Amino acid sequence: MQHVTLNNGVEMPILGFGVYQIPAEQTEQAVSQALAVGYRLLDTAAAYGNEEAVGRAVRASGIPREELFVTTKLWVQDAPAQENTRRAFETSLHKLGLDHVDLYLMHQPFGDVYGQWRAMEELNREGLARAIGVANFYPDRLLDLVFNNEIPPAVNQIETHPFFQRTAYQDLMRDHGVQHQSWGGFAEGKNGLFTHPVLSGIGEAHGRSVAQVVLRWLIQRGVVTIPKSVNPDRMAQNLDVFDFELTGGQMAEIAALETGTTQFFDHHDPEMVAWLSKRRLAG
Ligand code: NAP
Repeated sequence: MQHVTLNNGVEMPILGFGVYQIPAEQTEQAVSQALAVGYRLLDTAAAYGNEEAVGRAVRASGIPREELFVTTKLWVQDAPAQENTRRAFETSLHKLGLDHVDLYLMHQPFGDVYGQWRAMEELNREGLARAIGVANFYPDRLLDLVFNNEIPPAVNQIETHPFFQRTAYQDLMRDHGVQHQSWGGFAEGKNGLFTHPVLSGIGEAHGRSVAQVVLRWLIQRGVVTIPKSVNPDRMAQNLDVFDFELTGGQMAEIAALETGTTQFFDHHDPEMVAWLSKRRLAG
């Protein structure tokens, strides 16, 4: 497994396993299978409702804790944010059955972001979260956070796939020491990704699937990626991307697929801001 080094020296696998939209009752099995085929980075969130199942699979695996990299995420908190953030973190840790996480992300750029971030800084200083970062932050918000806090985010997890590539944003993040992490690397199959002629053609040239081409493209860009699958064959296929290389020409062919827009949602859209801001998690 290839790793990236975060801005505080923490090593993070470049490829991991995402569990969004895996129902809680299927998650333990899926994560157990993912660990068995070799994944060591697990990406969950309080909002996914499956942290307990992730924790059960981790314990059942018997894999030493230091070999795993576990990420979870903070949902938007009510005021007072600092107090509620610590409480939310403790709930996540308890559900996971762990004594620390490797990465704690602020899931959305909403609410009292600064109160939330200050609490996350404390958790980081106490060693409860080895690294802290954000998700879904656009450049303006990210730089505000970088310049006006003591601990800059180590990671920004954002929608990134062949139709929304974020290349200029990746350069900006690199300039500020923020690691780019992709969510929805396959765009969840939207826009015909898995049968796209350009991606299929590149796959044929290497004897690889479209999924493997996309993951390889992200890895060659230095983007951390966390594909989700509930199918053990696909889990294994998605991990098997370290023994071939896309050419410069193939990277350029994929670069040309950029549409410049989201396949999911825009965090500047007032309706989306309202919807995400009003959502509260039970327990
Ligand atoms: P994704 O990884 O882009 O796509 C998952 C879809 O691709 C599933 O339908 C899966 O089906 C299919 N798939 C997986 N491997 C395949 C293969 N080799 N061939 C064909 N189909 C394949 O979607 P995602 O789950 O939205 O994103 C990945 C992770 O990013 C999430 O699980 C989550 O951890 C994270 N995420 C974060 C945010 C955020 O706001 N921070 C938002 C969304 C996602 P099967 O399961 O049937 O294989």
